[in-house]
Amino acid sequence: MQGSINGAVRNQIERNATIIKSIPLDVSKLVTEHILVESMKGVRAIDIAEQIKELFPEKSNARAELIARTETSKTSTALTRARSENLGVDWYVWRTSEDSRVRDSHALMNGVLIRWSDPPSPEQLDGEKRSYGHYHAGEIFYCRCYGEPVIGLDRIAWPAKVYYGGRIQRMTRKQFESIM
Ligand SMILES: [Zn+2]
Repeated sequence: MQGSINGAVRNQIERNATIIKSIPLDVSKLVTEHILVESMKGVRAIDIAEQIKELFPEKSNARAELIARTETSKTSTALTRARSENLGVDWYVWRTSEDSRVRDSHALMNGVLIRWSDPPSPEQLDGEKRSYGHYHAGEIFYCRCYGEPVIGLDRIAWPAKVYYGGRIQRMTRKQFESIM
């Protein structure tokens, strides 16, 4: 089990490394390794991002901040997804940090059940003209959202909001059970 989690996270790190082209290779490796180790330890993405900023030569650089935050968050999501898939858990609950900095389109996603194989387009659902495509919680720049794996249905307040068929629907537990 640990092996395939490592594999999935390694893949994400490979992708990160190609995104982080603008920084020297040794720094890029340091950053990606750091993200992996800290994520596996269960350190929060926002805390990892703070640590990573220290690894950049130009500590106050806004780009360093953007890369650190975004890539840490993406890696964290990749890790959650890999763990979920190992356990046969297909759904997660989109969680925001529930503060004033959460963008409207993500506030709309808060508490919505999402299937890992069917990422939503929050901007589209929110009726915005601009779309960043379909993606999961934590997978877009400056996003601090995360996915909470749906381990059992007892802990969910029914009826619940579910992203299904390209829209957010309110479903009873029975309805959800019929599509899960
Ligand atoms: Zn977000």
